[in-house]
Amino acid sequence: MRFTPEKPPITGETLETLAARLKDQGEPAFRARQILDWIYKKRARQWDEMTNLSKPLRAWLADTFDLNPLSLVFDKQSRDVTDKLLLELRDRSLIETVIIRAPQEGVGIEHSRKTICISTQVGCAMACAFCASGLDGFKRDLSAGEIVAQLLHVCYREDSTTTRAREELASFDNIVVMGMGEPLANYDNLIRALTILNAEWGLGFGARRITVSTSGLVPKILKLADEPLGFRLAISLHGATDAVREKIMPVNKAFPLAKLLPAVRTFAEKHGRMVTLEFILIEDVNDSIDQAGELRDIARDLHAHVNLIPYNTVVGLPWKRPDIERQEAFADVLRAARIPVTLRREKGHDIDAACGQLRLKTERDREALTQMR
Ligand code: SAH
Repeated sequence: MRFTPEKPPITGETLETLAARLKDQGEPAFRARQILDWIYKKRARQWDEMTNLSKPLRAWLADTFDLNPLSLVFDKQSRDVTDKLLLELRDRSLIETVIIRAPQEGVGIEHSRKTICISTQVGCAMACAFCASGLDGFKRDLSAGEIVAQLLHVCYREDSTTTRAREELASFDNIVVMGMGEPLANYDNLIRALTILNAEWGLGFGARRITVSTSGLVPKILKLADEPLGFRLAISLHGATDAVREKIMPVNKAFPLAKLLPAVRTFAEKHGRMVTLEFILIEDVNDSIDQAGELRDIARDLHAHVNLIPYNTVVGLPWKRPDIERQEAFADVLRAARIPVTLRREKGHDIDAACGQLRLKTERDREALTQMR
């Protein structure tokens, strides 16, 4: 399904495409850079703020482009380590962008490292059995401009809460593409968006601080390995054998471990960087010591980092997280083999819409919203 907005978002334009449009208008090429500067460095929210452009040019821009294709519905600050921005698209779909703070010793929470979790689709077609994002199926891909605009909203928010100059670069440390959707199923828009975020005329955000997470679309992993920009890769593994993985992830039928793991190796070899294997621990599904042993062997073989994530319960789904002892016993198998492993200690369910669980929540928020209007 494709959504064609009235006006394309300017946040989907590159320096080259914008310069070409301006040339058709008889404007010099340097105008493109001036405009992008207003958007990404000065964070203009209105065309009329762009005072070094002529009035007719501003009027043309306003007629031609959407300055920001997302409107902020609400900004939910939690007592915990995550904040969420609920954003409405022009077709009234809702997405969430999540700000995750990693508290650091000796500094207040406002100075902690920030990771921004962005969405790439409305809904998801991958149908992983444990995940809320796919429960209502797939609605549509986000355009490149919609993906980029999520980060601009985070910048607007950070600008209003910090005293540092706006012209400084983005005030967050990492971007993870782990929100709603399968990023590699929306490949071209994803790459275009990440290119804009990375470009010096855009947000100037380092490719090495951007992690793309996938459920395992092998041909696209190989394609990503050939991209000139070195993005990081995370694989949602969640099963260390085909028998376990295919029970919870239908994608494993098309791309079983015998295809997935060599693709991950190719990616890691081309980039010379560690890949992350994500493994949600779900009670009695994939949390056995046997699975831990298989995962250890895979991680050792790929020189991968393992991120263990205790499952967050989803309303309407039967899965549970194992107790702490069982989580630790699983992690110990990896630790004993000196595999770099992190066991995410989330504070309860305050984080429940952090990553990969956004769809249900947003639809419920939509209902609340309708009642408010
Ligand atoms: N489609 C991509 C990115 C979105 S999901 C992917 O599969 O990687 C981001 C991460 O959140 C994935 O690892 C996903 O498996 C995980 N996730 C989904 N539902 C979850 C839940 N209920 N608890 C914990 N993690 C979950």
